[in-house]
Amino acid sequence: PTAIHWFRRDLRLADNPALLAARDAGDVLPLFVVDPALWEVSGDPRKHFLAGCLADLHEATDGRLVIRHGTPQDVVPALAREVDAASVHVAGDTGPYGRRRDAAVEKALGDVDLVRTGSAYAIAPGTITKDDGDPLKVFTPFKRRWLDHGWPDPAPRPRSVGWARADSEDLPEAPDLGGTEVLEPGETAAGKRWREFRDERLVDYDGQRDRPDLDATSRMSAHLHLGTVHPRTLLHDIARSGLTGPGVDTYVSELCWREFYADVLWHRPETAREYYNPELQGITYSTGQGAEEDFEAWAQGRTGFPIVDAGMRQLLAQGWMHNRLRMIVGSFLVKDLHQEWTTGARYFMQHLVDGDLASNNHGWQWVAGTGTDASPYYRVFNPTTQGKKFDPDGGYVKRWVPELRDLDAKHVHEPWTAPGGVPDGYPEPIVDHAHERQVALDRYQAAKGR
Ligand code: FAD
Repeated sequence: PTAIHWFRRDLRLADNPALLAARDAGDVLPLFVVDPALWEVSGDPRKHFLAGCLADLHEATDGRLVIRHGTPQDVVPALAREVDAASVHVAGDTGPYGRRRDAAVEKALGDVDLVRTGSAYAIAPGTITKDDGDPLKVFTPFKRRWLDHGWPDPAPRPRSVGWARADSEDLPEAPDLGGTEVLEPGETAAGKRWREFRDERLVDYDGQRDRPDLDATSRMSAHLHLGTVHPRTLLHDIARSGLTGPGVDTYVSELCWREFYADVLWHRPETAREYYNPELQGITYSTGQGAEEDFEAWAQGRTGFPIVDAGMRQLLAQGWMHNRLRMIVGSFLVKDLHQEWTTGARYFMQHLVDGDLASNNHGWQWVAGTGTDASPYYRVFNPTTQGKKFDPDGGYVKRWVPELRDLDAKHVHEPWTAPGGVPDGYPEPIVDHAHERQVALDRYQAAKGR
């Protein structure tokens, strides 16, 4: 019999239990559906990375990967009929869109089984609970239980798969990014990048992970999102490496944040859009033309605050931004420009190569002070001091904001203090941070008092 393996966020052959389940069920027809609901809203770097991962997977499946463009609930059952498939195999998707989509596909498949095996997490969302079965709402106790639970061994890479054949449409085209250096896509590149990080930077991770001017983080996020590597593989590899210490512990903790947010979203799917903590629901946001212009300045990296602009320009060019920068630019949009976190979250999802509803939207809720374990609402990042602290020589800013390249380290984070003033072509700050900070605090206070 023919078993379809429908690849979604598991674009790899190694450690893929769902693929092994398909192989055990018959000749495997590898499928990827280019879903317009996801593809058309993606920015160019995101499209570029996905297209690259698919090209890699096409090669890994001996050129047999079948591409179909269209809505999964139409395309998957049609292909199942075309090849007379007995079953369709997937790794379970636990996000709200994926759950809805899979339920619709399952229904449309009729007698053909949709078989879900595993998930994109070391421990599937919904598994870790309190003793009474309630979900955990705070990270630290979740992490304690997550570590105690442990995870299964990685699944072996299949040695040989009898790939079935069907007509394929064209692989989606990777947009031209004009030579910008971006993350290398695909399973092989993920493994290479991971081993480099493990051998050269993992033990120093805790001390250097907050420095956007250094290449000190793993850059695994997009690979984890699309499943060119599975987190279980990384956790086992860390254990096997024998490496220990605060760098390793902090890294494992970060992987656990990813699992925590997925767990929160599993239990409360509406928190992709709605406030996890409704206390701040009534906060007043700025609207109208001025707010639209502010948003545009933020999105294009033209706020006049160098660290914010550098982050936003990196996002546009590469589809990635360092975690420290995500917090800084997020705080700036919400607390200096008084715009709702959902606006920023939507923009990030379009542009981030690693855009992931759980990590992104809960990351934004953390920034806005509306989420689980949120940063307290009165914490307002000062973009200038954040810049000086985490990009001390200005190397990061100078890389992404060429207008500031001639400034010395003393002035690069506050060009308005430079002897010659703000360099030509770079904007004056669009707001007075001290003033906007107070406005934000007043508005938060008012919302809490309601
Ligand atoms: P590393 O520092 O090497 O961390 C290793 C891995 O741990 C990451 O790849 C990621 O899978 C996980 N991780 C690290 N930090 C977090 C975190 N705070 N929350 C959840 N998982 C984490 N991460 C995404 O994967 N997708 C997103 O869309 C996303 N949006 C974010 C939005 C905001 C406003 C904020 C504050 C954070 C967001 N993050 C998101 C989390 C974090 O910024 C990225 O995972 C990280 O910067 C990716 O780079 P890296 O792989 O080099 O991370």
